[in-house]
Amino acid sequence: MSAPFAYERHLTARPEQADALVDLSDVVRDARLGPPGARSLDRLRLVIQALGDRLRDRWVLVHAVADQRLRTARTEYRDRLDIDQLERLAKSGLVTELPDADGPLLDVAGMTGLPVISHDRYDAFRARHPWLQGNTTQFLAPRAAPGRTVRLVERDMGVRRVGAAAPGRGRPALPEVVARHWRCPERACSLYDRRRGEAVLLPRLLDGVPSCEWHEVPLADDGPRAAVVQLKLLCGHETVHRFTLDAGTTAVLGRGGDDREEDGDGDGDGTVRMLAVEGLLPAAEAGRIGGRQLWIRVEPDAVRLLDLSGGRTRLWRAGPGGGGWSALSGERPVEMRETDVVEAAPGVTLARAGRRLPAEIAESWRRAAAEAERRGGGDPGSAG
Ligand SMILES: [Zn+2]
Repeated sequence: MSAPFAYERHLTARPEQADALVDLSDVVRDARLGPPGARSLDRLRLVIQALGDRLRDRWVLVHAVADQRLRTARTEYRDRLDIDQLERLAKSGLVTELPDADGPLLDVAGMTGLPVISHDRYDAFRARHPWLQGNTTQFLAPRAAPGRTVRLVERDMGVRRVGAAAPGRGRPALPEVVARHWRCPERACSLYDRRRGEAVLLPRLLDGVPSCEWHEVPLADDGPRAAVVQLKLLCGHETVHRFTLDAGTTAVLGRGGDDREEDGDGDGDGTVRMLAVEGLLPAAEAGRIGGRQLWIRVEPDAVRLLDLSGGRTRLWRAGPGGGGWSALSGERPVEMRETDVVEAAPGVTLARAGRRLPAEIAESWRRAAAEAERRGGGDPGSAG
């Protein structure tokens, strides 16, 4: 092994910024994935690299959640450096440690729509998280692959028999939590302050109730909150910048200028945000981007795109036979699906990060519920 793997560059304390969630206890204990021993942190490296391969992005970000017990079972680690490393990552907040990680992990998955990397079937959580039933789109299992690598395989979560759902009093549904701002009742606490703009945290749920993670008290509702998407600017196979856009935003991707607002685009709905690539991309690549290359509109239910470059922007879309490229329309806005990739110039692309719009999450849950219904609530056996 050459240079040590830079976990810090791939872990984020903020699930809003991540490409996927990692059930770290599940991954570290999965002996099928690689290095011998009951527990190994190197399995996290393999999983991050597998996600990077899958998304064609060397700089993927994951939000990792672990049980506090994960690093206390010291004798189970063959490599003692793993324990130091895990302790460092947990203390710096890059690994979120919780007494019991599964429930909070699923809360975050439900709020963000982020993919979850895990083998776990979460059977005990099906009543509280009915969207697990019939879900075939949001869970990825790591599998050992040739060359001591790992690949990620889409999972069918199946349908488990569960008792009647126990919603619990005062527990808002996950999409409602995301659709609101929250405020800590502790006067000096600004952790969830809506004036942070795009940096506003998603609340942590304690037993289903939005709560301050510092003060562990229930948060107060502070009004409606815009849905958010994140767009990644990639140069080759490396993310060089992440743009966070609220629903209701109109933006134009172009070569120069500051990341600032300019005057209205004539459609009467206010300002246009300039997303300038200069300074983010190497000069040669930035020079290939038009002054106004791509129009982006974020709606509560979808991201829509329009080419402004006279036909130089291309769209890659997954499909039968692996997908393909087509010219992006300059006439009619095109909906940007979660797996679409937009090419602004050769080697310069825009892709969506893992986080999804609440309307998209709701739509995928509707599909999962229909699938669960179709299967009649039976147990399909293996869901791995
Ligand atoms: Zn607080």
